Amino acid sequence: MEEKVFFWHRRDLRMRDNAGLFHALQSGYRVQPVFIFDRHILDALPHDDKRVSFLYDSVMQLHAEYLTLGSELQVYYGYPVEIWTKLLLSAPSQTNGIYTNEDVEPYALERDHHISEICRTNGMAFHAYKDHVIYGKEEVLKDDGKPYTVFTPYSKKWRKRWEECPPKPFQTKGLLSHLTSLKGDVENIPSLKHMGFEKVPYDVSPAVVDTGIVNAYSKNRDYPAIQGTSRLGPHFRFGTLSPRETVIQYYTLNPTWINEFIWRDFYSQILAHFPHVANEAFKREYEAIVWRNDERDFELWKQGKTGVGIVDAGMRELNETGFMHNRVRMIAASYLCKNLLIDWRWGEAYFALKLMDFDLASNNGGWQWASGSGVDAAPYFRIFNPELQTKKFDPDLRYIKRWVPEYSELTYLHQSIIPHTVARDRCLVAYKAALKKPI
Ligand code: FAD
Repeated sequence: MEEKVFFWHRRDLRMRDNAGLFHALQSGYRVQPVFIFDRHILDALPHDDKRVSFLYDSVMQLHAEYLTLGSELQVYYGYPVEIWTKLLLSAPSQTNGIYTNEDVEPYALERDHHISEICRTNGMAFHAYKDHVIYGKEEVLKDDGKPYTVFTPYSKKWRKRWEECPPKPFQTKGLLSHLTSLKGDVENIPSLKHMGFEKVPYDVSPAVVDTGIVNAYSKNRDYPAIQGTSRLGPHFRFGTLSPRETVIQYYTLNPTWINEFIWRDFYSQILAHFPHVANEAFKREYEAIVWRNDERDFELWKQGKTGVGIVDAGMRELNETGFMHNRVRMIAASYLCKNLLIDWRWGEAYFALKLMDFDLASNNGGWQWASGSGVDAAPYFRIFNPELQTKKFDPDLRYIKRWVPEYSELTYLHQSIIPHTVARDRCLVAYKAALKKPI
């Protein structure tokens, strides 16, 4: 029997330009790809979660691609520590360990720590590579070696690094003959039903960059009524598209679009360097805010029934499709934290449940930005006026009317939970008290 290593796919559901897979294929051993439907994550999700259907289809697609190469993706359902213990120890003399890609989310770090310990105690290797971001937490640092907490200088250093030494895609294609060959004796792939989920329709754009959208991105990106952004978020989230290869290919097409990938790296390194942000304000003094946390207002916000057209349109779009335009995410998030004075963590958790492109680092970064508590965040006194935002970014109300068909400016304003000027004053009092600013 030939010796082998495992390659564990997680948020990198592709063979192309996959750092960990490339290194596994170069290890000198046969490579057995594996995917685990992780119960620690799945058990918390509703049975009709759209992301699980998308994830399932993406895993099946990857499995089909491995089959065409005469290999296969071994797919399991359960708890990773138990599954790996069984897999590694079933034939230890033929197993040299696990290759995978890094993940900086708190649960993933803990899980990987346990599994690397199992490998270590059994004399096997555990190798994890940077793949989900373009530059990892140690690669773009200030001159004194400390992490950046302000975006503009971070982005300048990021671009400098790119110009000096641009990354290259990992060419896995020529190495795929090192995969283990199909034996046909693996356990059956678990069905969605077996895992307690229904197959539900979802709306995810094909994994192809539309150069027309990228070309016009700077002009169109802020208008939710038009498709001015790529809508590729779920592909970058699950790795069905490589962010590295995408940026390499489109680096010169539109710097504004590339900036969004720098934001993505920025928030990822913030989570990696300051893991407390997952549960607490980055700026600790913001923990002193006394939130109203009114359950009824929160419910109205979730359902898209606040009486503020642009907020309601965004929430209804999110509930129905799993997508919300970035401009509207900012307005809806600011409205929850500042106008309704509801803890940003409530909103963050709701987005985490609904967004097809949910990513802990970016979602947390976006919410802490909106509440003012994060790195490089909106200052506490900047409170989006939804009416002015609508005039600017949805002037003919096309977006609002698409999602809120009963919308009519006058009647709608009457229904709003609280007039903007009153909410603004209430917010300033609460924030100033917490931040010890003169009222
Ligand atoms: P495009 O505008 O075409 O951008 C291309 C890619 O760049 C995106 O797919 C995404 O991977 C990345 N990107 C774009 N903008 C940002 C940004 N501001 N921060 C980090 N990455 C960015 N993005 C997520 O990927 N997951 C989230 O869970 C998430 N939650 C958010 C919550 C709030 C409150 C806010 C204000 C923003 C959030 N964002 C999140 C960032 C941004 O809204 C989405 O990435 C973007 O709307 C996705 O649309 P798109 O795929 O058309 O992106």
